[in-house]
Amino acid sequence: MSGGGTIDFEIRPSSQPVSATEREALLANPGFGRVFTDHMVTIRYAEGKGWYDARVEARAPIPMDPATAVLHYAQEIFEGLKAYHRADGSVGLFRPDANARRFAQSAQRMAMAPLPEDLFVGSVRELVNIDRAWIPTSTEGSLYLRPFQYASEVFLGVRPAREYLYCVIASPVGPYFAGGLKPVSIWISDEYTRAAPGGTGAAKCGGNYAASLLAQSQAADNGCDQVIFLDAAERKYVDELGGMNVFFVRADGSMFTPELNGSILPGITRDSVMTLAREQGRHVEERPVSIDEWRDGARSGEIVETFACGTAAVLTPIGTVRGVEGEFKLGDGGTGPVTAALRETLVGIQFGRVPDPHNWTTTL
Ligand SMILES: *Cc1c(COP(=O)(O)O)cnc(C)c1O
Repeated sequence: MSGGGTIDFEIRPSSQPVSATEREALLANPGFGRVFTDHMVTIRYAEGKGWYDARVEARAPIPMDPATAVLHYAQEIFEGLKAYHRADGSVGLFRPDANARRFAQSAQRMAMAPLPEDLFVGSVRELVNIDRAWIPTSTEGSLYLRPFQYASEVFLGVRPAREYLYCVIASPVGPYFAGGLKPVSIWISDEYTRAAPGGTGAAKCGGNYAASLLAQSQAADNGCDQVIFLDAAERKYVDELGGMNVFFVRADGSMFTPELNGSILPGITRDSVMTLAREQGRHVEERPVSIDEWRDGARSGEIVETFACGTAAVLTPIGTVRGVEGEFKLGDGGTGPVTAALRETLVGIQFGRVPDPHNWTTTL
């Protein structure tokens, strides 16, 4: 037993872990989301009983009754965060308390039982601890952690479930940009939206992703890497990419980003970028950003950089933007200096190479 929050975890190490040789081979080129560690965490919830049966055990399939509620009504939420090998030899997590808070907020929106925040952080620490050997040592490699929770009650009636399963799995990932920062092209979806006022856009739930996939396919059909969504009411303002927030940089060095309007996911990278940029003396505004302002600003030279941000890629420069009304580029379509510098600082904090005045990183 080991204390990982409000309840103790029962730890049952895998009897068949991957051999060290095989693990090293997998870690040489893990890609994203296709290699997994030896263990997982599970915690169960039942109405009237609360959270119980916290375990760290061998990663294995979860048997599921075909009438399990999540398969029918999609009551599901998730998180994404990373563990890093730091410059001083310790293992670090970046703002796990912020993920814990957001997870509880997502649960609230989806009418699910919220997991206590200390239990969330404890569960992540337990998994990283037992699967520490799976954290890549390559430059900018990390262990991607995926906590998630779903309605596990076997019931077809339409109401919030009375039973939930919380689970954490881990996946070693290589550097997102192996050959240096590469700007992405973006498709403006004129046909589909991902979230509407009063909807679930601010919750990190699988359903939002399901709603974004067709638009993402259209982006690919139009030769673009990613899709950007406009607001559902007027189709006039920029919301976000399906899994990343967006920032704009003006020629005078000031920045702006769409305000959290209920349809935008409150990114932890977004919040961290705003803090860092303000510390660098930049003026940062949160407000509605129209697609016209972006297009006209890029064409006139007033907006010189645009980047997307999220845990997986940290900061991604946007080079080209395409839509039914034509195409425009940001600057020369390459990686701008503000994007590159902010990324360098944030990644430096995560890997313990530069000071962390906000105590964003916590070590194991
Ligand atoms: C997770 C996510 C983001 C980015 O959030 P981070 O906390 O920075 O990783 C942005 N948009 C959506 C829809 C997301 O699910």
